[in-house]
Amino acid sequence: MCGIVGYIGTKKACPILIAGLTRLEYRGYDSAGISTIEKNGLSLMKDKGRVKNLNNLEGIDNLEGTIGIAHTRWATHGKPSKENSHPHQDNSKTFSVVHNGIIENYNELRSFLESNGYTFYSQTDTEVIPNLIHYYFEKDSQDKSIMRFLKAVQKACLDLKGSFAIEVISSLYPDNMIVVRKDSPLVIGTCEDEKYISSDIPAILSYTRDFYLLNDLEFVLLSRNEARFFDSNLNEIKKETTNIEWNASSAEKEGFEDFMLKEIYEQPTAIRETIGSRISPDLKCEIEELNVLDKAYLSSINMIYIVACGTAMHAGLVGKNSIEKLCKIPVEVDIASEFRYRSPIIDEKTLCIFISQSGETADTIAALKLAKSQGAKTIAISNVIGSSITREADFSIYTHAGPEIAVASTKAYTSQVILINILAIYFAEILGVCDSNLLKSLKQEILDLPKKVEETLKCDSQVKDFSKSIYQEKDIFFLGRGIDETVAKEGSLKLKEISYIHSESYASGELKHGPIALIENGITVISILTDPNLVEKSISNIQEVITRGAKTLVVTNQNLDYSMFDEVIKIPDTIPFVSPILSIIPLQLLAYHISKEKGLDVDKPRNLAKSVTVE
Ligand code: GLU
Repeated sequence: MCGIVGYIGTKKACPILIAGLTRLEYRGYDSAGISTIEKNGLSLMKDKGRVKNLNNLEGIDNLEGTIGIAHTRWATHGKPSKENSHPHQDNSKTFSVVHNGIIENYNELRSFLESNGYTFYSQTDTEVIPNLIHYYFEKDSQDKSIMRFLKAVQKACLDLKGSFAIEVISSLYPDNMIVVRKDSPLVIGTCEDEKYISSDIPAILSYTRDFYLLNDLEFVLLSRNEARFFDSNLNEIKKETTNIEWNASSAEKEGFEDFMLKEIYEQPTAIRETIGSRISPDLKCEIEELNVLDKAYLSSINMIYIVACGTAMHAGLVGKNSIEKLCKIPVEVDIASEFRYRSPIIDEKTLCIFISQSGETADTIAALKLAKSQGAKTIAISNVIGSSITREADFSIYTHAGPEIAVASTKAYTSQVILINILAIYFAEILGVCDSNLLKSLKQEILDLPKKVEETLKCDSQVKDFSKSIYQEKDIFFLGRGIDETVAKEGSLKLKEISYIHSESYASGELKHGPIALIENGITVISILTDPNLVEKSISNIQEVITRGAKTLVVTNQNLDYSMFDEVIKIPDTIPFVSPILSIIPLQLLAYHISKEKGLDVDKPRNLAKSVTVE
């Protein structure tokens, strides 16, 4: 995880670096630091805690350098402390490095460097990198050109196992910076005489729309007005820029108290963007990016895996329901970190769909590589154009939900759910295996959703009031049957992530097979009831907990006898395929308001980071 920023240009680097780190803070907030090239060598300022602490460091206002690197950390090796903060330097303080990722062989490299006289001052895996660069730099003392610097970085990187996005500056090369990535994100924004480097695009969108997207082990030698690219053998290569259409203000709070609330309210727009022209007003369904997947190929598939982590995996569960029902192809949903290690049965008749908001989720990328190597066709669903997962997959489809900054995902989830439903419809039409009236009504429902989401958001104040009555709870249960169970899982995850309340989600009918033992007087049980075919049985399950003293909140689109429940949130009616898009909204708001009620940092919950780029 972690965020890294770099600047090389004509302005003072320090304020630009701190502004960039502030926008990247959602990626990690254990410590922050910067290093710039000053007249008298490299500066180094860092401390434990949030980015804003940097402004209190003595001397930070005196930094004049126009080249610098910066880091906000999500600690993997070594506790959050000043010593473990990035940037790290080699023993001679000639090189400053920031790193995102994990160096898996750091112990081995550290012993090697120690036996060559190097001393280590931190517990991080990262500290081997600047020292290794120094080691190779010294070995090549004949060469005086900039290539000596580049070769030293290349040799060091080829020794590293694991994942890394790094930026390197040196007091010996005051007009340059070198950056490289492998399995960790890094983009370069370019203007005439300035280059901006960042872990993600939104953090530097206010400076430029033109970006270079890097492949693994492409080395970039930056000067103010040039970016030169080299492959892993240091052969120079050409690279075109990609123009990014997102607007800079979408990465600002725009009057909302928190990004999460803003993103919850952006869902009608995000969903409209996801639908785009994929379903036309006359109900034609088209996914251009997938148009080579014809009937012959789709008929040959005997298994689909949907692989993802966290919230994206919950979107995958909704996808399983739709694909199985509409396309009649069996679907398994896997947690990416488990998928690789359970020897899944994959061959050329398997289609694998990978979902990741950021497109940088390390577990999901690793699972994708495995599926590809075993002959499956792969589709990536992501929100970030040019992200790693989209460059690895055979096909990519984008949610177009706009930047999502809050760590707890909201609009990305609903956009993923829409997109995977559209994909199910698209495949079902090609296969010709589904009742066309059902497909027609589903398409119409999808087109109607943005309005219904707007309608659903009106429950905000009711949810806020209810949150006041339960924010001090220690345990909360979420129940649902069928598609509603997938929403129970997502609602429970949202609550855990940002309110730190322990919660469990269960299939309503499963409760009596064990967990009902935990139901005691006063415990809150939240049920989702949207499938008319399952309502009666679900109500019986709610009765079972009411009998045992539970306090009940029901989220439903059905007309029921509400008097038996403590609180009912009525949402607009739709068909079960897409009902999670509406029923999750009160649960997103509930998690949000409980977190606020407890005075927590909604956008940056403890121990979490937005884009999980380590396995
Ligand atoms: N592994 C490095 C550390 O623990 C980098 C972590 C990160 O990506 O923030 O310092």
